[in-house]
Amino acid sequence: MIPPATRQSVADVAAALDLAVVGRELYDRIGRLYPICRSITGNGVRETLRLLGSELDLEIREVATGTPVFDWIVPREWNIRDAYIMNGNGQRVVDFNASNLHVVSYSVPVRARLTLAELRPHLFSIPDHPDWIPYKTSYYSETWGFCLSDRQLQSLPDGEYEVCIDSSLEDGHLTLGECCLRGRDTAEVFISCHVCHPSLCNDNLSGVSVAVTLATLLRRVPLRYTYRFLFAPGTIGAITWLALNEPHVPKIKHGLVLACLGDRGSPTYKRSRRGDAAIDRTVAHVFRHASHECHSEDFAPHGYDERQYCSPGFNLPVGVLSRTPHGRFPEYHTSADDLAFVAPAALADSLRTCLKVIEVLEGNGMFLNKNPKCEPQLGRRGLYATLGGHSDERRTQEAALLWVLNLSDGTHSLLDIAERSTMPFAMVRDAATALVEHGLLEELSAPD
Ligand code: ZN
Repeated sequence: MIPPATRQSVADVAAALDLAVVGRELYDRIGRLYPICRSITGNGVRETLRLLGSELDLEIREVATGTPVFDWIVPREWNIRDAYIMNGNGQRVVDFNASNLHVVSYSVPVRARLTLAELRPHLFSIPDHPDWIPYKTSYYSETWGFCLSDRQLQSLPDGEYEVCIDSSLEDGHLTLGECCLRGRDTAEVFISCHVCHPSLCNDNLSGVSVAVTLATLLRRVPLRYTYRFLFAPGTIGAITWLALNEPHVPKIKHGLVLACLGDRGSPTYKRSRRGDAAIDRTVAHVFRHASHECHSEDFAPHGYDERQYCSPGFNLPVGVLSRTPHGRFPEYHTSADDLAFVAPAALADSLRTCLKVIEVLEGNGMFLNKNPKCEPQLGRRGLYATLGGHSDERRTQEAALLWVLNLSDGTHSLLDIAERSTMPFAMVRDAATALVEHGLLEELSAPD
């Protein structure tokens, strides 16, 4: 996709991205992961991480059932082999093999003959969308159930049915996957996504797929930050990771939860609990200069694993990048969140947004003007000769030089300068590079 010789920086990778090619790669990976029956524990998560491990250097960690993790306990491991509802003619009218959404996730094993009236309390549908199968879970209460389309539910004749859920709920493990890309600094950028949903695409195979390609692109360039990618079951996985890594947590300087990145809606960013963390300001900057509509919104203590990362005892600078946020599209948690609901172009745009954000994080720095008394004479130093393009472009580049010189007093980062000048970060960064080359600027320690 990108010739190795040009892989100099994250900015180069972002600029060279072939959106059509990468969109197809992101989409095809979702297609490979889609059939797997995942839950918060069990072989579905393992199989998913095994597939991701064929592309990434993934460290797998198994945490035993019963392990205390803050106020929670790692639950028993759930696995399922088969499930069905069979009518009196021996036909499977609901079959787990046709869709893994048919079984309420974490259903305890059952094998019984029931009348329709007895079965009904265990059947779930969506009357407003009569052809869709809902996605339901019962992680923390021992029960069982089936999900089916309302059309099918309404058409089930009275009579006796054989129900079978061939599942197991036993002591085992919760599985976490982690990929770490070492940078020059031990300070970390933390990327997290949940891997506990069965055959659902936007929520959240889209986030998983974007994270994998992002990691494969970043590992090809020299990095300032260390990047940690966490693939974990929602809620309990994030809580478990935080409990096992508490001493490590202060290294996290910026973070993103990736979720719902494949639908055709516009990009949305949910700020960290802090609201003004560098990641919040960075995404706002990228959105301001995007060619299409983007939205930002404030933190709220519901949603994905930002609930854990932004709990008051951690209060990490972690926001959420999505397109249409969870729960705000009717297909959410239904069989309609399928391969047709996600689009290669939306996935590619989400990946590019991640790269643009990382480009700013990597390139941000604090500089000092070495000639702070009045403006230096740029012409004498040959700086005008470095300005290219048309006269408008030259004027903008000159303005960038003046902004960087004026605000580089040791208290403003390049992101501060980009925000105040309303110029794109890359232009400010290029101006700083030119000024350093001409001896007019020196780099102070990079901000965290
Ligand atoms: Zn979900």
